[in-house]
Amino acid sequence: MYAYACPAKTVGGARCRNAAVREGRCHEHPAAALASPPDVVIVKFNLNERAATRLTNAGIILQSVDWQEREKKHTAQAQAHDRQPHRYRTDVADSGVPVFGPDGLNDVSLGRMFREIAERGYVLVDIHLLPHRKNQWAKVLVMIFKEGTSMDVPPSAAEPLRNIMGAVYGVVHVWANPPDKAGNVVHTVNCITRRDAPPRCELAFYNEWFEAPIWDAVEVVTEQA
Ligand SMILES: [Zn+2]
Repeated sequence: MYAYACPAKTVGGARCRNAAVREGRCHEHPAAALASPPDVVIVKFNLNERAATRLTNAGIILQSVDWQEREKKHTAQAQAHDRQPHRYRTDVADSGVPVFGPDGLNDVSLGRMFREIAERGYVLVDIHLLPHRKNQWAKVLVMIFKEGTSMDVPPSAAEPLRNIMGAVYGVVHVWANPPDKAGNVVHTVNCITRRDAPPRCELAFYNEWFEAPIWDAVEVVTEQA
């Protein structure tokens, strides 16, 4: 069942965690103001060892991450918004809401989303790799977009990045997080499990996230006189 999170703004400035049930809203927010669009969009890709090595060889830095520290931060942020940190995932704390429901979108292409965030002034300001939380061989590519001055990507990283950004992903989650301590709203697009298959939908963004269907088999029937 396709689920979409209510786009209303809560009292604390976060996006509502209820599912939209009627005219795109939850029962509590038939007319509330909309949650703010993101100040920062972080796009993350799960990579296997080979794909990650191509990027480190091209000059993309592998950073370290303190998982305990991250868990503490997300738990505190959830509690500050009076939210259950383990509502969606038992093994990791979340303070935000999965915009497309707990199952996310399936078989997604991302080209349209990258074009649309660029049109709205978000530019690439940071790119790095992180270890994967569960799989010691895998890595996570992190691309951070916001208004500002675009960074230069090492030229030899351009082709492997095009390949990653142009692929189809079996599962994509978009998380809308509450404002952080500085008041910035960060949305995260998690691209999981690359798929060698045609896309079923495109991720779209015009200040709000949408699933745009791809009509792969439209049959035109012409009536004959
Ligand atoms: Zn709501």
